[in-house]
Amino acid sequence: SAALAQIEGLIRDVPDFPKPGIIFKDITPLLGDAKGFALAIDLMAADLGHLKPEYIVGTESRGFIFGAALAYELGAGFIPVRKPGKLPAAVHSCEYDLEYGTDAVEVHRDALQHGARTLIVDDLLATGGTARATGELLRRLGADLLGYAFLIELAFLNGRQQMADAPVQSLIIIE
Ligand code: 5GP
Repeated sequence: SAALAQIEGLIRDVPDFPKPGIIFKDITPLLGDAKGFALAIDLMAADLGHLKPEYIVGTESRGFIFGAALAYELGAGFIPVRKPGKLPAAVHSCEYDLEYGTDAVEVHRDALQHGARTLIVDDLLATGGTARATGELLRRLGADLLGYAFLIELAFLNGRQQMADAPVQSLIIIE
């Protein structure tokens, strides 16, 4: 559609970031465009509203931007999932594999009530490692995981296969 084309036009390819051979999808032109950013949030909200989430979980750091805006629009609370050592109170932690080494994500142990309707949001799905680890954290919290939502999905990396536990919805799918 014209709306999706407008949003796609505000996502910039940056070659060789963060390392040689990787083409990074830079969303900062979209964030800086008032109409484009609002359109992206409105379209994501339209796709996700029927799930009636009580909480949006956003992954550090670009997931905070889209997740917080969506939480506001959908009338949900916002829960940050952060890199290790950033959250002040007691946390659950989940490690995941990177191409070289491992990373981890953390969430506050008391972030939500058992059974709370919860949706994970991030800007981009690549290999799925980050989203899968975030899903694991939510299982430990006893959340009712409604799904995973992304602005952009790099479908050729097959990240979606990592999330068999709940539906995956992406606004822009790059084949
Ligand atoms: P994954 O764990 O699926 O391999 O990587 C997804 C995570 O890395 C997301 O949190 C996302 O923000 C970040 N990421 C990886 N590649 C890109 C990219 O090309 N553009 C943006 N904006 N984020 C990326």
